[in-house]
Amino acid sequence: MDLLNTLVDKGLRRELPTREEALAVLATSDDDVLDVVAAAGKVRRHWFGRRVKLNYLVNLKSGLCPEDCSYCSQRLGSKAEILKYTWIKPDEASQAAAAGLAGGAKRVCLVASGRGPTDRDVDRVAGTIKAIKEQNEGVEVCACLGLLSDGQAERLREAGADAYNHNLNTSEATYGDITTTHTYADRVDTVNKAHAAGLSACSGLIAGMGESDEDLVDVVFSLRELDPDSVPVNFLIPMEGTPLAKEWHLTPQRCLRILAMVRFVCPDVEVRIAGGREVHLRTMQPLALNLANSIFLGDYLTSEGQAGRADLEMIADAGFEVEGAGEVTLPEHRASAAGGCGAHAGAGCGSHEDAGCGSHENGSVCGTAAPAPAAEPRTDLVALRHRGVGTDLAPNA
Ligand code: SF4
Repeated sequence: MDLLNTLVDKGLRRELPTREEALAVLATSDDDVLDVVAAAGKVRRHWFGRRVKLNYLVNLKSGLCPEDCSYCSQRLGSKAEILKYTWIKPDEASQAAAAGLAGGAKRVCLVASGRGPTDRDVDRVAGTIKAIKEQNEGVEVCACLGLLSDGQAERLREAGADAYNHNLNTSEATYGDITTTHTYADRVDTVNKAHAAGLSACSGLIAGMGESDEDLVDVVFSLRELDPDSVPVNFLIPMEGTPLAKEWHLTPQRCLRILAMVRFVCPDVEVRIAGGREVHLRTMQPLALNLANSIFLGDYLTSEGQAGRADLEMIADAGFEVEGAGEVTLPEHRASAAGGCGAHAGAGCGSHEDAGCGSHENGSVCGTAAPAPAAEPRTDLVALRHRGVGTDLAPNA
């Protein structure tokens, strides 16, 4: 297919595809999905080999958020029966982080629900970062605390944070449809603040909120312009008790096309499969490793992932290898331009939610164009997290 040959050539040269080419990837048929994966896989292997970076989420503060992000189970008025707790102690966070690291993770993503941190919250998180770094040599730490005020990114950097996650989530045009309590511009501003403070920026999206292909291409092109080191791709988990509970639009093939499009537009960036991996890719997860070079190990913020051991087995069975703590995630030209952990060398999560951070959740949007046809709801695959941090039960790692 000429389209795919062109996109591979551009990806190997780090050349931006046209919007039409990105849209054409999303428009390919299910019959062509293996060709699309094979093509984007060449770009992935060129920049990242067969390495898979594992990231581990620690939800420092869960639920009780005053914001109204429609996709989020922690939002104002959410009826989802998630764990709700305020800031956990640094020691508890450190223990959870250690479990993730022992399971193979090299980055810990510290996430807290809320619009953004107070200065006191930043102090609290700084203490947590110090505790984790003292007890776990070489760990990368990403913070995901919502919108940042002036000076807060610098203070997190001084405390030892390597990265900051804040997702754009969806296109600027549809942002107001999913959230009314803050704006797309607020989100862009926070990503820029993280960049300016020398933190590795992590910013991604949520697919499956009813958005159009144009919205998806818009947000991915906006991300490329923001130039984060990592791009988490969340697939909406339509949680009961949230406004988007009925938005089941994704199929495994659609998820693969979305990941391929992100890889072609952001060829040398850490592309992470975030929340919704198990629910929407299902048995196609191993194929998606040909597109993304990073996943979360174990559970998400408010929902459960597959067992950490199953993540490791999947990676090995698919012929990939877990990236070691001593390996730099990003290609040399990006890693050397960054600071910290390879500094622009890795990233966190993204949406305060089920994915990682950035958005604090796992959300979705309500687009302007016709959404994809309904897919089969798989509520049977959605399990709220009731283990690990905030409970007396062992974490999944
Ligand atoms: S995504 Fe973050 S800011 Fe939005 S409702 Fe969820 S926790 Fe709050």
